[in-house]
Amino acid sequence: VNEFDIIARYFDRPCRRDDVVVGVGDDGAVLAPPPGSDMVVVTDTVVAGRHFPEGTPAEAIGHRALAVNLSDLAAMGAEPAWMTLALTLPEADPAWLERFSRGFHALAESAGIDLVGGDTTSGPLSATVTAIGLVPAGGALRRGGASPGERIYVSGTLGDAGLDLRGLLAGEGPDGHDRFLYPTPRLELGRALRGLAGGVIDISDGLLADLGHIAEASGVGARVRLADLPLSAAVRALEPGDARTLAVSAGDDYELCFTAPPSAEARLVALEAGVNLTCIGDIVPGEGVVLMDEHGRDWHPAHAGFDHFNGGAR
Ligand SMILES: [Mg+2]
Repeated sequence: VNEFDIIARYFDRPCRRDDVVVGVGDDGAVLAPPPGSDMVVVTDTVVAGRHFPEGTPAEAIGHRALAVNLSDLAAMGAEPAWMTLALTLPEADPAWLERFSRGFHALAESAGIDLVGGDTTSGPLSATVTAIGLVPAGGALRRGGASPGERIYVSGTLGDAGLDLRGLLAGEGPDGHDRFLYPTPRLELGRALRGLAGGVIDISDGLLADLGHIAEASGVGARVRLADLPLSAAVRALEPGDARTLAVSAGDDYELCFTAPPSAEARLVALEAGVNLTCIGDIVPGEGVVLMDEHGRDWHPAHAGFDHFNGGAR
């Protein structure tokens, strides 16, 4: 199977969007963005043994390669439009490519994004997606938009992907580990937060690190009430310190963390964006992220982040 066969067989699909003038197959794609829109461009690489354990199902690698990029578009309030894929493969295994492309295309279809170009190379397994989304001109959400007096919210539950990854690395099979293997980018929520949220980020590196980026970019501090963190039954069943450490520092959840003024509360409650929202704290003057336990005392996780692929704490 050569490079052209791979693209033709597994990745060349009819474009659904009418703003794709030229898609896969020429030297470049030609795209016609609608007037009055800004383009948001994101790119992310997933590498075998670094972002997913060896033995991860090919469908899940295809899904994740796209999902991590869609999550960045969600955090910017953008609607996915077009993407390219650069795939590096140790060997052209048709069965693996069939499964990878199935996971990739299934998410692409549900998100309404068209593949308009790409490249395949031989080498250690990795996949790089560059995705482009659209927002109304001037309407992109930013990390730097938080102000003192705003509340801090997160979508969904935290720590589940970290718990899944722990199981996968311990040799458990893929079943029951969908939060890590098949993360759901919060695209609908991101779009709904336009004009409503202050600072927004997606949680890829853990709440502590990612909320820290909002605080730093906005020039503010953040106070988080640990007792209010949304935890699944599986995470709540862990030893409490372990559950909290996973929830604030494991990452890979791909939920959104955002700030909004108290006046937005009623509109946030009324949002039907397919996911629960939980208020977990407040933006304050100052800097840094403070985690408070139920007695109002500062709490620090055993380590700031997990690096599962390099022997534990990073
Ligand atoms: Mg991000």
